[in-house]
Amino acid sequence: MSWQEELRQRVRSREQLERLISLTPEERAWFARAGSRPESFGLNITPHFLSLVSGDPGDPIRRQCVPRVEELSFLPRESGDPLEEEKHRVLPRLIHRYRDRALILVTDRCAVACRHCFRRNFAGSGEGTVSPEELRAIGEYLAAHGEIGEVILSGGDPLSLEDGRLFAVMDAVRAAREGIVLRLGTRTPAALPSRITPRLVRGLARRRPLWGVLHLNHPRELGPECTAALARLVDGGIPLLSQTVLLRGVNDDPETLEELFRGLVSRGVKPYYLFQGDLARGTAHFRVPLSRGWEIMRILRRRLSAMALPVYAVDLPGGGGKIPLTESFLRGEEGDSWLFQSVEGGVFRYPKEEEK
Ligand SMILES: *Cc1c(COP(=O)(O)O)cnc(C)c1O
Repeated sequence: MSWQEELRQRVRSREQLERLISLTPEERAWFARAGSRPESFGLNITPHFLSLVSGDPGDPIRRQCVPRVEELSFLPRESGDPLEEEKHRVLPRLIHRYRDRALILVTDRCAVACRHCFRRNFAGSGEGTVSPEELRAIGEYLAAHGEIGEVILSGGDPLSLEDGRLFAVMDAVRAAREGIVLRLGTRTPAALPSRITPRLVRGLARRRPLWGVLHLNHPRELGPECTAALARLVDGGIPLLSQTVLLRGVNDDPETLEELFRGLVSRGVKPYYLFQGDLARGTAHFRVPLSRGWEIMRILRRRLSAMALPVYAVDLPGGGGKIPLTESFLRGEEGDSWLFQSVEGGVFRYPKEEEK
């Protein structure tokens, strides 16, 4: 099956899903209630990702892709735009939050809709793919902003695009400013490994300097198909990093993360970030208290080389930006929150959310 065909066969309805797995009460309740809510973030799973799901209701792959009713409970501190990216959207498709890095919202489409998605207002919103006019405007912005040295292709997942359209986006960046380092942010090796074709890899290699920054959360995502896709990228000369989101019931224990990080390193991928959960709407059931995250990191530091250990980081709610979750950024605690100093100097809160 071609990757395009596999994309067409994605599971997007309750009926399709129920032919493959029997739903739990929490999952059924999402379908019963979400249908009437226009803001609910839709079901979308590739046959490949579903093939990794076991019948176990608590399965870590299943939790990442099959919606549950908890997603429909919104806390007041949660938001559809938890990083306040709208404020930094300098063009409809360009976010310029950090001085030397800019991020293109290439497309709103993804192979799999992750239930923990922090950009859920944009992903699957129907905004579609960047247009030639928008690309021209991005090119002009990059030409005028010599301080930008890295451009992140994100979305959505840029590998939802056909090769030609993806390469056109990369070439527009290159045409604007020769030396820019490209970063391709993608979950595709885990969600749709057949997308990583030899032709794609050759096209990416021709557009270096380019890094792949992958999203992987559980060692079971590193099955034979994903392993082969990663080998094609590594053999093709594409350096790879990975980002993992700390997710309750998925990977919130040192054993699972150790296996994931070792598995990545042995496949040629350097674990880059372990992200604390963002305050994205309807994701409270996924968040792990920071105190537990620190405990897991202390254990991992004893077991893993620096090469295998990512930086534990958070994107401070309220637009504070990314910081490593180390003591030098911690300013103390106040009531139910931890206080952090951002890189720019302001003080921001992150809720403790510990079980009482
Ligand atoms: C995370 C992010 C970056 C890149 O940050 P790094 O720490 O360099 O990985 C750039 N722009 C935006 C908007 C981001 O969210």
